[in-house]
Amino acid sequence: MAQPPATTLPTDDTPARRSFSPRAAAAVALAVLLMLALTVAVLRLVERTAHREAAAAVTQRALTAAQFNVATLRRDLEKHRALPFVLAQDPDLKTALATGDPQRLAALNRKLETLAAGTGASVIYAVDRRGLAVASSNWRGPDSFVGENYAFRPYYQGAMAGGAAEHFALGTISRRPGLYLSHRLDDAGGQPVGVVVVKVEFPALEEDWAHLAEPVFVTNSDGVVLLTSEPGWRFRSLVPLGEAAAEQLRRSLQFGDATFAPLPIRPFAAAPASKPLVSGDEVRADVPGHPAGDSYLHVALPVPSTHWTFHLLAPSRAERTGIAARMQAQALVVLLLAYIAIATAVYARRRLRRHNAQQAAIRAELTARVQARTAELQAANDQLRAEMEERRQAELRLHAAQEELVQANKLTFLGQIAAGVAHEINQPVAAIRSYADNAGSYLERGEAEGARSSLVRIGALTERIGAITSQLRAFARKGSGAREPTPVDEAIEGALLLLGPRLRTQTVALVRSGDNGLHVQAERLRLEQVLVNLLQNALDAVAGRDDARIDIATHADGSRVRIEIADNGPGIAPEIVERLFTPFSTSKPEGMGLGLVISRDIVADFGGTLDTRPRGDAAGGGAIFTITLNSAP
Ligand code: ADP
Repeated sequence: MAQPPATTLPTDDTPARRSFSPRAAAAVALAVLLMLALTVAVLRLVERTAHREAAAAVTQRALTAAQFNVATLRRDLEKHRALPFVLAQDPDLKTALATGDPQRLAALNRKLETLAAGTGASVIYAVDRRGLAVASSNWRGPDSFVGENYAFRPYYQGAMAGGAAEHFALGTISRRPGLYLSHRLDDAGGQPVGVVVVKVEFPALEEDWAHLAEPVFVTNSDGVVLLTSEPGWRFRSLVPLGEAAAEQLRRSLQFGDATFAPLPIRPFAAAPASKPLVSGDEVRADVPGHPAGDSYLHVALPVPSTHWTFHLLAPSRAERTGIAARMQAQALVVLLLAYIAIATAVYARRRLRRHNAQQAAIRAELTARVQARTAELQAANDQLRAEMEERRQAELRLHAAQEELVQANKLTFLGQIAAGVAHEINQPVAAIRSYADNAGSYLERGEAEGARSSLVRIGALTERIGAITSQLRAFARKGSGAREPTPVDEAIEGALLLLGPRLRTQTVALVRSGDNGLHVQAERLRLEQVLVNLLQNALDAVAGRDDARIDIATHADGSRVRIEIADNGPGIAPEIVERLFTPFSTSKPEGMGLGLVISRDIVADFGGTLDTRPRGDAAGGGAIFTITLNSAP
């Protein structure tokens, strides 16, 4: 058995949807590029923000550390500053300086030695008014200051001029840097007798600084490094010194033969080389023991009571990269989530669009199918209508043909009946003639009564002739087709009247029985025609029989009325019983075989039936024809 063709509506699994069109591929590529660009931009931005955040955090810590160190340094300085001031008030020192007495100076040497050891000052020495060192705490050592002339030293000149001075310099003998604190001594008359000098060195401080994680250093007002945690940085300059300034410093021997090479510290970002470093700047520096060019945060604080500046370089790379990494990771997660959300939304939209397109395609397909099916149905409908029309036409033609047949059938009867009727009329006409003659004779004899009686008979006879002819005329007319309550008795009477001549020539017992006064839905003339047909056949069947008998029975049966015409003839011939109601079935030499066909048609037209059955009781069979019709009030 042939399978119906498979349905090819698009579904979600159609493979075509999985392939990308070149346009879609280009869009995806563009989207990926955009995402990459956005990611790079965001990471850059985040890095910059991280940079700022790291700078802020490191600055805060560096500032705290710097403040602590500055305070320590200041405390150290303050401690040592008291010493020259106190010594300047010492009368022994004054006397020794004023007199230059060797004994006093020798005692002074020992005193200063003891004091230096006690206060932690590196050297304490006394210079006379000419600048010559006359006593010193290191008088025992090979590098004793005694006998040296310090008149050129700014701390001597400053103290002589202003009473006190401070000067950081490299020791001319010791070659060790230190802070020289000097104070002038005046005699009772207010005349200067000399200057006492305390040299303070900071090895312990620098030692402590060396252990710090951050490189620290102290610069003077020229930017020259005085104290530092990095020994190699001493006497280098924070900002390049002018050649003239450097030369002058070299001549002063303040820092020996230092070259004042710039410190290996440069701004983080490209900046003019001349731009001075500002506290809070990010810088790159080559710090021994650390990667060259590593990044640091530079913090600078003034050291109170001096012209010095304390510097601290806080390593910022780790902090910055740490914060940047953390923030970038967070940004990446957020971006990733955003991309996933966007991709999901785009995918969902694409899916929805595809789904809608599929639905539209399905709808279009369905619509097309419905239209095709509708067209088919329309065509079938049209064809059906055409067929119906054809059938109607055929029916009309059939009906017309039937009408013709009915008419022909009637005319056949008329032909048959005509002879009988002629005979029927002949007889009364002859009687009228003789009555007319009689009436004439009576009139001649003046017997008015006799003449009148003859005329009355003539009148009766003409009435009879009129009845016969009017019945014939009515029968010959075509039926109107209208159904109406028809009195059954009258129809039977009419039929019998038509058959009157034949009934009189043929010896047959005609028996009527059943209910009287019944009405049926029919047309009188056509019902008469049916009755004439059936009675004719019955008369044919019983012709020649001595005991010929025809029974006409009428019965009311609920809403129906039965009219039965039974004869005691030979019954229906077996060779035609099967096709009794089909046209041209006849057993008679001159028969047409149309009577029963037309009769059944007429009865069916009235909404009734015409059937036959053998009559069981009569010898030789006999037939019963039954007309069943709807009763009418
Ligand atoms: P026709 O009378 O012209 O032959 P009908 O259609 O009236 O045409 O009758 C068809 C046939 O049916 C008759 O030839 C006859 O053989 C049979 N037939 C009809 N009525 C009877 C009857 N009452 N008894 C026996 N045969 C009958």
